[in-house]
Amino acid sequence: MSRPDGREVTALLVVDLENIRARYECLRCSGREGPVFGTRAVSEFVAAIRADHPQRCTAPQEINR
Ligand SMILES: [Zn+2]
Repeated sequence: MSRPDGREVTALLVVDLENIRARYECLRCSGREGPVFGTRAVSEFVAAIRADHPQRCTAPQEINR
């Protein structure tokens, strides 16, 4: 997958506002985080997962550009 700006999509952050839950799927290591449930847990998860997952990711990490 690629975006119009050419950046590779490496993860999906799925937020379900109807059921108040969120999950994260890394397309590089096929790892999954969550789901988490509830307003507080979802907001914390969304705020932190992009920084947290790479620390647990088993796929080789690119240096952030
Ligand atoms: Zn990963």
